[in-house]
Amino acid sequence: MKILVTVKRVPDPNASIKVKPDGTGIITDNLKYVVNPFDEIAIEEALRLKEKSGGAEVVLVSVGSKTAQEQLRTGLAMGADRAILVVAEQELDSLAVARIFHKLVQDEKADLVLLGKQAIDDDANQTGQMLAALLGWPQATFASKTDSLESEAEKSGTPGIQISGGAAKVVREVDGGLETLELPVPAVITVDLRLNVPRYASLPGIMKARKKELKELAIDSLGVDVKPKLKILRLDPPPKRQAGRKVGSVQELVQALHNEAKVI
Ligand code: AMP
Repeated sequence: MKILVTVKRVPDPNASIKVKPDGTGIITDNLKYVVNPFDEIAIEEALRLKEKSGGAEVVLVSVGSKTAQEQLRTGLAMGADRAILVVAEQELDSLAVARIFHKLVQDEKADLVLLGKQAIDDDANQTGQMLAALLGWPQATFASKTDSLESEAEKSGTPGIQISGGAAKVVREVDGGLETLELPVPAVITVDLRLNVPRYASLPGIMKARKKELKELAIDSLGVDVKPKLKILRLDPPPKRQAGRKVGSVQELVQALHNEAKVI
């Protein structure tokens, strides 16, 4: 089984993000970048599936600037086998990225694609869904895990996605609880927060990763239409939160909630 895992380079979620005064983007000077947190979970899941099956290959794919090599090396250090970086310096919308993945999935003859449910930079939550549509493959989004499995599976490193007999069983989070789906493989699965706890790269893993294959492909060499269908008009930071106020007593608090905030 060949598992393709998508890995996006995104700003560190703990960094304080500042929007450019003209709203055309964010200020990237001195910004730290990391593997999209949901993609780390996808890498971990692929590694668990590989460890369970004994015979899978885990291939990481990314689309972006050359600097995304850093995030791919992180995934290789966690244990993935090799990586492909499609070098693109221009801004790409989700459909363009999904089309590139479509081509890579076909070229690589992948059996399973794991993606994060969303990239935390644009919060689009659509690349996996678009990829499944382009491939004509079944999809399961927001793969999670049942509570009862959680502690036991975490201890033993068991994958939350179960694959056997040409089908994948996926527990997914929905508003009212959990939904369990079965879908034939090949398939596209996007992963949510509670699926697993990603491993840290070990020192030997980091050393080994330096020698693993990281192939770079020029975006133009793929013959894929990447013309944007979507234009971001502007970005605005959230309104500044007003400072809080200290009240002297419970009585004063109740009065303020009643008379000023009018919430009780
Ligand atoms: P999005 O639809 O942009 O929220 O992204 C969903 C998932 O698609 C992410 O978690 C990534 O796994 C993948 N993805 C989107 N854009 C890229 C990219 N440029 N490179 C690698 N993976 C990506």
